[in-house]
Amino acid sequence: MKVIWTLEKASIWARDKLQKANVKTFELDVDVLLAHAIKRPRRFVFTYPDYQIPLENMKVFQKSILRRAEREPVHYILNNREFWSLEFFVNGNVLIPRPETEHLIDHFLELISDQKNEKSSLEILDIGVGSGNISITVLKELPLIKVTAIDISADALEVAKRNAKNHGVLNRIQFCLGDLFPKGGLFPERFDFILSNPPYIAASEFDSLEPEITCFEPKVALISGKTGLEVYERLILEALLRLKFGGYLILEIGDGQLAQVKSLIDESRGFDKVSTVFDYAGKPRTISARRKING
Ligand code: GLN
Repeated sequence: MKVIWTLEKASIWARDKLQKANVKTFELDVDVLLAHAIKRPRRFVFTYPDYQIPLENMKVFQKSILRRAEREPVHYILNNREFWSLEFFVNGNVLIPRPETEHLIDHFLELISDQKNEKSSLEILDIGVGSGNISITVLKELPLIKVTAIDISADALEVAKRNAKNHGVLNRIQFCLGDLFPKGGLFPERFDFILSNPPYIAASEFDSLEPEITCFEPKVALISGKTGLEVYERLILEALLRLKFGGYLILEIGDGQLAQVKSLIDESRGFDKVSTVFDYAGKPRTISARRKING
């Protein structure tokens, strides 16, 4: 007998699968994946429980639920993540942009609002571009500026390029493959701003994270080394050589890292005007420091 899959029946089947796989957000995930499979808005799923799902769409849905039950993140299944109200293509080669990173953008916009010079001439560098969320958001916010974007992964750069194209900013972004600051002289010598959400997880901490992260997100984008501070150590020192006098370094920081990152900045002796931005949960998320004007 041919099974007829209504939205209600499909939801019950899928919720059960995901619940058994310990997916905490199983209800939301089912609705999102179901809406995606039938190409309708989410409210359609709640409004028409008796709607019969066409076979092709049901197959898509079943596949996506099986992937989710393996703990693959919804955003990789959908190949999409929203950041700063912009849509980004994502796959397993890039970190899924996190809402916390929007604080870095906020802080950057606040700092440039005090800049006296012409904003269009600002030189901006994004280290660890990933999906391109930081660079592209900045380019969308400031329609005249250009950005240099570096990543250690060529596959990540492909994703960032695709997103830059989708957002119509490909002509204002220069991509560069490298481990923090590449030796070659592709980009301007010195920058007004260096922005980065670097890898900051300690290797020992990694395994205790959720499987969505440990099994699917790129380790190179997440793990810094033994302590989690290794990339900051290099980044802070090298950034000093790449910032203009009075230029700013803006970094995302991990939970509990504020004091250590602050001391790395102080120890470098090259920065002043250090400030911290807290997220909505009250945790320090972003830190910025200015390269001393006469340093
Ligand atoms: N810039 C990207 C983000 O903020 C990627 C960061 C990374 O790969 N560490 O999500």
